[in-house]
Parts: sequence; C-alpha cells; structure tokens
Amino acid sequence: MKQEVIVRFAPSPTGYLHIGGARTAIFNWLYAQKTGGKLILRIEDTDAERSTEDSIQGIIEGLKWLGVTWDEGPYFQTQFIEEHLAAARKLLESGHAYKCFCTIEELKHKRQEALRQKKDLKYDGTCRQLTPDSVAEKEAAGVPYTLRMKVPKGEGAVCFEDIVYGNIEHKYKDIEDFVIVRSNGQPLYLLSNAVDDIRDRITHIIRGQDGLSNTHRQILVYQALGAPVPKFAHMSLTLDPKKAKISKRKHGELVAVHFYKAHGFLPWAFVNFLVLLGWATPESREIFSKEELIEAFSLKGISRANSIFNVKKDDPKYFTDPKAISINAHYLRELPVEEIEPYVRAELEKAGIWDPEYENAKRPWFLETLELIRSRFHVTTDFVERGRAYFADDFPIESRALKKNISKHPQLENWLPMVADRLEGLERFTTAETERVIRETAETLEIKPGVLINGIRTVVTGQLAGPGLFDVLITIGQRRVVERLRRSPALF
Ligand code: GLU
Repeated sequence: MKQEVIVRFAPSPTGYLHIGGARTAIFNWLYAQKTGGKLILRIEDTDAERSTEDSIQGIIEGLKWLGVTWDEGPYFQTQFIEEHLAAARKLLESGHAYKCFCTIEELKHKRQEALRQKKDLKYDGTCRQLTPDSVAEKEAAGVPYTLRMKVPKGEGAVCFEDIVYGNIEHKYKDIEDFVIVRSNGQPLYLLSNAVDDIRDRITHIIRGQDGLSNTHRQILVYQALGAPVPKFAHMSLTLDPKKAKISKRKHGELVAVHFYKAHGFLPWAFVNFLVLLGWATPESREIFSKEELIEAFSLKGISRANSIFNVKKDDPKYFTDPKAISINAHYLRELPVEEIEPYVRAELEKAGIWDPEYENAKRPWFLETLELIRSRFHVTTDFVERGRAYFADDFPIESRALKKNISKHPQLENWLPMVADRLEGLERFTTAETERVIRETAETLEIKPGVLINGIRTVVTGQLAGPGLFDVLITIGQRRVVERLRRSPALF
C-alpha cells in the first residue's frame, strides 16, 4: 500500500499571515488535496517573546478566508516541549549528543580567536572529548551545560534530494556540533521542529527557501533518532520589483493577507494569484477553478527561480500587483453572479447602503445590476465606490468626468432638465425609448448626442465611463434618473 501523504503548515505566530506564509500553506494544502493526504496545522509558538495570541488568530482567520482547510490541529509546539526534551535525552543516551559546559564567554573568546587567525568559526568540540568522569565532576559542581549534537566525523556527508533544488550535500566536516538544548533547559528550534515532524509522521516538508539552511541539520536529528527522513521541497523567494525580499518590515500591510481581504479580493482569486508565484504548469495556464488547480498541481511545477510580486505599481490605477488585480477582475466578471453576491453584499453592508429587499423582492434587480456593472470592476470594493450610484442617491462625481463632460458644456445646465422632462413623460422606460428620446433631444438642440449621453452618464452615475448608457438608465430606473437630471443644475 502506498504511504499516505502527511504535510504540515508550521507558521511562527509572530505577525500577520503574509503572502509568503499563505503561499506555503496553499502549496501544502494543494498537495494534500491532490494526493488524498492530510494537512496538519502546527503553530510554532516556542518563541515566547515574539509569539502573540493576535497573530495566532490572524493566521487562522487568514487561512479560513483563503479556504485552506486542515485535517488536524492547530497543534501548538509549546505543548510538546517535554517530548522535545525526551528526544534530547535519548540522543544523549545513544551517544548522538553530548553535554557542553563551555560558557558564553569562552565561546565568544574562541570565536574571536578563530576570526583573528582566520580559522574555522565552528565550535571546536572541546566538550565532545570530555571523559565521563570529568562530565560527572562538572555536573556535580553544578556547571550549567547545553546539549550539542554529535555530528559524525570523517569523510561522509549529509545528502538529500530537494524536490525543487535537486541534490544537496553538506560534508560532515563543515557542520558544527549544533546546540539542541539551551543551558536553561529550553529545546532549540532545530530539534523541536524535527521531533514534531517525526511525531506527526510528516512525509513531505514543503516550506520556504529559508528552511533550506536547516535541512541538513534536521536530517541529522532524524537519523540519530532512527526516524525516516521525509522528502523536502523548498519554495523559492518572492521578491519585490526591485528584487528585494518581500517582508513585513519593508512592505508592511501590502504583504498581509488581510489587506487583500479588506481591499476587495475574492479569496479564490487571491489563491489563484498566489499559486502562480513560483509555480506553473508546462503550458503556463493562469486561471484555475479549485478542482482544476488540485488536478493540475504537482510539486514538480515549483520553480527554482524567484518570483516577483509587484507590491506597488507606479500606475495609479493599481494599488497592488496588476496580475493580482487582473485575476480578481476575471473572477468578478466570469463567476456566476450568485457567487459574488455575498461579497458585494458585505461591501454594501459595510458602506451602510445595503437594502434588505436586495435579498427579497429586489433580488432580481440586484443580480441584474451586478451583472451589468461587474464587467469593468477589479475588486469588490468597486461596487460601493465606482458603483455607488446604483445603490445610493448620495454619490460623488468623479472630477475627471465633471471636467470633461459637464464643465466644458455649460448649456447642459438647461439641457439636462429638458431631458428629464422628456424621460419623465415616457410610458415605457425601455432602452429603445430612452435612446430615442435622448437622440431626438440632441437633434432638436442641434448638438451631438454624445454631449448629452456623456453629461447624463456623469450626473446619473458620477462616473466617466461605464456600461452602455441606456442599460444604465433602465437599471437605475425612471424616477431616480429624472431626479438626478433635475438636480444637476446645482453642479454648474
Ligand atoms: N516556523 C517556521 C516559520 O514560520 C516554519 C519552519 C518549517 O516549516 O519547517 O518560518
């Protein structure tokens, strides 16, 4: 029988869920889904000073928003400290670790000496040579000690094949006898992480490239504990357009998952965007439904090359990566309108312009309206910003539209109320009828219909551009259109 795949997402709760973490979580989740395996959520909260409850909540909320589901957990690394220490004792007993009584001052001094003499900076192994008697003596005298891994000596090496980066080899002679338990009795991360992965029977460790520098040491822990070594897949970095590593410190909220939630991204669109950062199919396909993505996903598609996240473009139209926006716009446009309905509703509620009738008598109108206006929108917040005039009578008028369509034609002050009177007289307020009235009015006035059409669009929607005007008028409705046209002289 084939072994079940078990993967884990193991964030340290020291800040919000950022796009790098989200990407790692998504890749693990996809791999579990793809293989029918299991995803474990493990919060690595052993850094007491930097871990916060807020961060834990933020990570969990972020994952839920993205739709990343896990099968076990959240477990907390701090729950297992006793286990980590038991493993350390086992390593000590089996001769894979030793007590090191060197003080911080001594170690510092040795390093300085090594630096001065341009020699190897690794721990020199002084305590590895101690006889059992002198160890017992120091212990009896109460000298504090750390536990160090006894890295094998000789010509050998730790070798592993990373699924993304290929064969990697670290010669034993280059590996320091690293500390696994501090002198205050705290296990170190390298140990805890490996012990947790052994306990959880993790088969594949899919994580950020920063884990690559730990891998060979973790493998030594696995081997010394007699545990099978999992497979590793390290994911390349995500950089900003200036090729700097994306970081919370440098890019702040712009790399936080909650920023995208707040700025009108559909969760699946964001997942679809994130997955393309450092992963591709051979045919570079871009849009995937959930089922399609699970079907297409493979660890082989993870790229070694770093990906670029265009945190901010100079183009003022975009407040973040244009690709992220275009993928989101694609989903806003293409999904069955009922699927975007709840997100638009949430925006309208937030803006205080939700009408409960939109889920009752006015639902057909509501859905038709979304259908009409969504094709030009990028994010769900556009529905309450650029689309506000459909749902509320108080809406701002874009200054560009005012300048171009109103101020340039001062006579509209008289013409628009004239159109209002004529539209009010219509018995059947249809696209054909409104179009006829508007074109006839332009003819009477001997002006281009475009002047009226643009002027009407501006005062009725507040926007420079939008869907076909006659459809817009029908959607907004006769009464409101007439009112807005009548009110328009106030703009002059
Ligand atoms: N807790 C580590 C981090 O957040 C993850 C390490 C791992 O996945 O092995 O960077």
